[in-house]
Amino acid sequence: MSEEKEEKKTGWEACDDAERESIMKFADGYIDFINTAKTEREAAKEIKRIADEHGFRDISEADSLKPGDKVYYINHGKSVYMAVVGKAPVTDGFNAVGAHIDAPRLDLKQEPLYEDTGMAFLRTHYYGGIKKYQWTTVPLALHGVVSFSDGRTQEIRVGEEEGDPVFLVTDLLPHLAQKQNARKLADAVEGEKLNILVGSMPDADAESDRVKAAVLKILKDKYGMEEEDFTSAEIEAVPAAKARTLGLDGSMVAGYGQDDRICAYPGLMSIIDIEGVPERTVVGIFSDKEEIGSVGNTGMASHNFELFTMELLEKTGIVNPYAVQRTFSASRVLSADVTAAFDPGYPEVMEKQNAAFVGKGININKYTGARGKSGASDANAEFIGFVRGVFDKAGVEYQFSELGKVDAGGGGTIAYILADRGMNVLDCGVPILSMHSPYEAASKYDIYQGYKAYKAFLEAE
Ligand code: MN
Ligand code: MN
Repeated sequence: MSEEKEEKKTGWEACDDAERESIMKFADGYIDFINTAKTEREAAKEIKRIADEHGFRDISEADSLKPGDKVYYINHGKSVYMAVVGKAPVTDGFNAVGAHIDAPRLDLKQEPLYEDTGMAFLRTHYYGGIKKYQWTTVPLALHGVVSFSDGRTQEIRVGEEEGDPVFLVTDLLPHLAQKQNARKLADAVEGEKLNILVGSMPDADAESDRVKAAVLKILKDKYGMEEEDFTSAEIEAVPAAKARTLGLDGSMVAGYGQDDRICAYPGLMSIIDIEGVPERTVVGIFSDKEEIGSVGNTGMASHNFELFTMELLEKTGIVNPYAVQRTFSASRVLSADVTAAFDPGYPEVMEKQNAAFVGKGININKYTGARGKSGASDANAEFIGFVRGVFDKAGVEYQFSELGKVDAGGGGTIAYILADRGMNVLDCGVPILSMHSPYEAASKYDIYQGYKAYKAFLEAE
C-alpha cells in the first residue's frame, strides 16, 4: 500500500485541457489575492471588497434575513465571518469552511527604533512558529497601522511597489561565522538579533542619534507619526517578494503566507460562487491569530463568532435560548488549513503511507496534535465517511495524511475550537512545502482541488 500511494499518479495526468485551463486561471486569481492581502488586516479588507462586489452586506445593516441573503461580519478588522442563508432553518446547522488569514512574520516591538554605529534599526518580536535564520537577508516590507491618541488610524504599506525601499535583517558573513555555524540551527540566530535595518543617513540638524532622527523625520512627513506613536501601532515585517508561478512547467506557486491563504482563497471563492439558494446555511470563516493559538478577540476562540451566529438566528426569526448550541451541534465544518507536503529532501520525518504528496489533491487530516494526538479534535468516522461521499460525487481528488511521523513533532489548527462548540469538524487543506518560511510552495492542481472540495462541501444537503 505504501508504495502504491507513493506511486499514485499525480492529478495532472488525468487533467484534460479544459481543467488545466481552469486550474491555471484559478491560480492567477489566487496569486493576485495573496499579493494584495499579505496581512490579516489586508486580507479582511480584500475579502470584504470581494464580498461587497458579489452582493454581500454587513449583517448589522439587515433588519431581517431570508433564504438566499448574503451577509458578513467584520470582526475588529482582522477576521471575517460570511454566510449565505439557506432554505432550512439555521438551527438545522450550517456547512462551513474555516481558514485563517494571519501568517508568521516579524512584528515591531512597541518601542522599536534605535541607532547603532550610524545605522537605524527596528526591534522585532516574531509572530508564530518560525525558523529564525530564514528571516535574515530576505527583502522585507512593512505593513500595518499606527493609531494616534486622538483616534485617527493611519495605514502603512511600504516595500511592495516598484520604487519603494525594502528592509533587511542582516546576517553574519561566513568568513566570521565559525562559532555561529557550530551552534544548533534553532539557536544560530537569536530572537533579539532579528532587528530590521531601516536607515543610515544622518539628519544634519539633529544633535544626537542623527540617523534615528532622520528616520523619525521621514515617518513624521509620510505618516504624521512621532516616535511615541509606535506604542499604539501594529506594524508587521513580511517578505517583500511577490508570489509567483514556480517551475518551468508553471505548475506551482511560490509565495509568502500561503499558510493559510492557500485555503482562505478557495474557501472565499467557493462561498462567492454559490449559485441560487443553498439548502443549508453556508458559512465562511476567515480567522486571525491561528498561528499563536487562535486567541484574542479576532482569533477563532473569540465569542464574536457566537454573536454572528446569534444575529443569523435572530434575523431569520429564531429566538430561543438553545438555538446557538443547537445550530453548532448540527453544523459541519471543514477546517481549511494547510498540511505538510512530502519533501523528498527530508523523507526521514514522514511515514510515506500516511503522508500528503504534492499534486495529488486536497488533503484530509483526521487529527492533528502531538504526542498521542494531544490537542487534536480527532474527527468522527461517520463525518469523514460523509465528506468522502461528497468529494467522490463532485469528482474531487483527495488524499489522507497526518502531519509527519508519530512523535516527529506536531501542529494544530482551528478545528478543535469549533469541535469544542459541538460541531462536526474535519481538517482539510492544501499540502505545502517549506511551511512557515518566507517563501512557501504548493501545487496549482491541489489549490484547485481545494476550491472544488470546499464548494461541494458547502453545497451538500
Ligand atoms: Mn495554518
Ligand atoms: Mn501555520
